[in-house]
Amino acid sequence: MAPIALTPPNGGESVTDLTHAGIEQALLKSAPSQLKSASLTNSITATPPPERETQPETTEPTLAELDASKIQCTYSESPRSVPAVGSAEMASQKVCTDHMVQARWTVESGWDAPTLQPYGPIALAPTASCLHYATECFEGMKLYRGHDGKLRLFRPELNCKRMLMSTNRIALPAFDPKELLKLIVKLCATDGKKWLPKDRAGQFLYIRPTMIASDPALGVERPKEALLFVILCCFAPMGDMSGGIKLLASQDDMCRAWPGGFGYAKVGANYGPSLVAQGEARKRGYHQILWLFGEDCTITEAGASNFFVVWRTKEGSLQLVTADLNGRIVLDGVTRRSILELARSRLNSEAPSSSSATTESDLESLEIVERKFNIFDIEEAAREGRLVEAFAAGTAWFVAPISQIHFRGKDIDVPMAKGNAGAYASTIRSWLQGIMWGSDGMESHEWGRVIDEE
Ligand SMILES: *Cc1c(COP(=O)(O)O)cnc(C)c1O
Repeated sequence: MAPIALTPPNGGESVTDLTHAGIEQALLKSAPSQLKSASLTNSITATPPPERETQPETTEPTLAELDASKIQCTYSESPRSVPAVGSAEMASQKVCTDHMVQARWTVESGWDAPTLQPYGPIALAPTASCLHYATECFEGMKLYRGHDGKLRLFRPELNCKRMLMSTNRIALPAFDPKELLKLIVKLCATDGKKWLPKDRAGQFLYIRPTMIASDPALGVERPKEALLFVILCCFAPMGDMSGGIKLLASQDDMCRAWPGGFGYAKVGANYGPSLVAQGEARKRGYHQILWLFGEDCTITEAGASNFFVVWRTKEGSLQLVTADLNGRIVLDGVTRRSILELARSRLNSEAPSSSSATTESDLESLEIVERKFNIFDIEEAAREGRLVEAFAAGTAWFVAPISQIHFRGKDIDVPMAKGNAGAYASTIRSWLQGIMWGSDGMESHEWGRVIDEE
């Protein structure tokens, strides 16, 4: 089966784009009334948004937009204790902070005023759409406690835009991504100080913005009610990935995503069905599945991380390669994007900032390539001694060096020049760490958004 080339709708602007045009397209499709308010700049301030112009009279009812400035706060009267570092509770991934943010949407009136309220269970009718038809999507971000004592988010505006793109794919309501970001910032500002204290520098809380269709009607149809919520969950500090992770290539009877599907969106429906393969991989001593697609075994992603390889071409040029987004079967990771951008400006000899064949990091400069490639290309590069390194990249696993890939009964050993990682992975990792945790002279990088604690 050859992969089908899909032309994005509306003349070339793909909904996977996190660009202004991409968002406008998404809003236009599902909530034209919100388009005007979604002034899609990347800035967010603590000051309330300016008074909106009153809408002209139309025959269509005007639905309320998601508006973070209307937030109603109810603070917890039974605050809980923060799990100790290294405790089983901390590692359980079940403990959330004292508060959560919620906002309800209905087709009749749009978005209700959001609430900040004590963390707790959500009541849903057993007929709720999300329990039956996978009308659910989410984001995964981290709140970092910096080595300089500050709390930071990493490029959160990209997550908020991607969330809108995901909701659009599964008929959930649109919203202004800037308003979602303000709600996330509010929750982090409220609970950050207590739940990620200053003596936990280098640690993080996991942020999970979620939207579900809470519509109690059992019919298979566009939901008329939805619930947006944001929670902050305690996670153990990142595991030691030195030694590298081992990947098990997916079998040819299973794939994660397909053209025309929804692999590019962070919708829950992508993850449940991957757990059988993932469980099998763990049982056999592998960390993640390397998801291949089609008869030619195109490389897509590793678990819920994007996959990168560094190799030398037969012609001798050094390349950093990752799957392109054209087939819409790969998720447009914020980490992926950031790595490509950093590599293009700091590891590419053609970039204005690096003048010679070696870069400021003393690494040989390389070409940065987004393209379709397959497992046979990697096998061949390994056999011919051209494979330099590989790594997986995403918020959850950060930049994880890969030591081995198992494919159809054979192991492909992946070199790790620095012993516990490849040289490029470890350099890229330290650049990103500097921005996320405010160290190494990266305290005021534009990608790190500092949160003022309450
Ligand atoms: C979340 C996710 C990623 C990584 O995206 P980031 O924005 O870098 O965290 C990659 N692939 C899949 C399938 C994902 O769900």
